[in-house]
Amino acid sequence: MGALGRVLAEPIVSRATIPPWPNSSMDGYALRAQDTNGEPVELAVVGRIAAGTMPSRPLGAGESMRIFTGAPLPQGADAVVPQEDVAASGDRVTIRGRIAPGAYVRPAGEDVRAGDVVVKPGGVLGAAEVGLLATLGYAQVRVYRRPRVAILSTGNELADLGTQPGPAQIPNTNTYSLMAQVIEAGGEPVNLGVAPDQLDAITERVYWGLASADALVTSAGVSVGELDLVREALEQSGAELHLWQVSMRPGKPITFGTRGDRPVFGLPGNPVSAMVTFELFVRPALRRLGGADVIDRPRLRALALEPIANPGSRRGYLRVTLTAGAHGYGARLTGDQGSAILRSMVLADGLAVVAPDTTIGAGESVDVIVLRSLEPRSR
Ligand code: AMP
Ligand code: MG
Repeated sequence: MGALGRVLAEPIVSRATIPPWPNSSMDGYALRAQDTNGEPVELAVVGRIAAGTMPSRPLGAGESMRIFTGAPLPQGADAVVPQEDVAASGDRVTIRGRIAPGAYVRPAGEDVRAGDVVVKPGGVLGAAEVGLLATLGYAQVRVYRRPRVAILSTGNELADLGTQPGPAQIPNTNTYSLMAQVIEAGGEPVNLGVAPDQLDAITERVYWGLASADALVTSAGVSVGELDLVREALEQSGAELHLWQVSMRPGKPITFGTRGDRPVFGLPGNPVSAMVTFELFVRPALRRLGGADVIDRPRLRALALEPIANPGSRRGYLRVTLTAGAHGYGARLTGDQGSAILRSMVLADGLAVVAPDTTIGAGESVDVIVLRSLEPRSR
């Protein structure tokens, strides 16, 4: 069960043919289709095959055997007639109609053939895969290690969970939303706590994070203020920065770099900006680090149920709810889209992607990145 939800690291090759022999999909009578001709015919019942037993002998001309669902067909038989379609008396059974070869027979190998690759590496193991692995006799499989991701929040104003915020302080949100996002992306978070807006304090924790994890994610301190020291701290701890500022809303100040083969993401501080930039930049990277072959969230075209406006020169990622309708999904804004309004993420099923200076009119279609399962839920 430990494999559930993990990314497979080896191909699973079937060692067996499933089902191993042709078997009945109904309770009834096994026979030779050629013995039926459209007229009522009477066949001798020469045996009884329950699931879990093998036929005692092959079937000859003019013969049938009582058979039950899942039981192997006797040699010579090529069809099954359900018991409700026959008249049985003593050791004789009367069949009406012409029976097609293969009727109610599950052929050998209809599910899996020996040598088939049944699950490929890079795939996520779900309940069906777990069942198939058990069927094939795999009690253990190799999966990818979860990437370890260090999370560092920065800011003098932050009071961490369990401490009472001072007069000018706010609770630390991002450490927890980001750790949860790491877990949801298949990673293992390492909490580096909160660093004050001081270069040496941030640098020390960044250094430590990069030594103990496969990737580092920081929040806040990447804008243009004089207390925005994260970029400098990343460089001081040996990271090379590759980009800063992306024309998007929310999330513009995002920074990305590497130290060696370890990615470093400097996410903006506003809680929505941090979560949205995690979705768009960090999550795909973690999926790839964790061996998954599909790294992106699904997208769908939805119908705007109200105007969805994205004024300004940056591409918008607007939080929307999705409701199933007769013609696909309908998208509606979650309300105010301020980047500090975390409830917009709580309510959101997806992110509507809207070009700069564009309003999607009600009734027009819009591209939506799906963030969660679309099971109906209470809001
Ligand atoms: P900054 O990029 O440092 O200017 O932060 C932008 C905004 O996000 C400020 O209002 C910060 O107070 C807020 N903020 C930064 N870090 C966090 C955090 N960990 N939890 C909640 N809000 C934060
Ligand atoms: Mg700050």
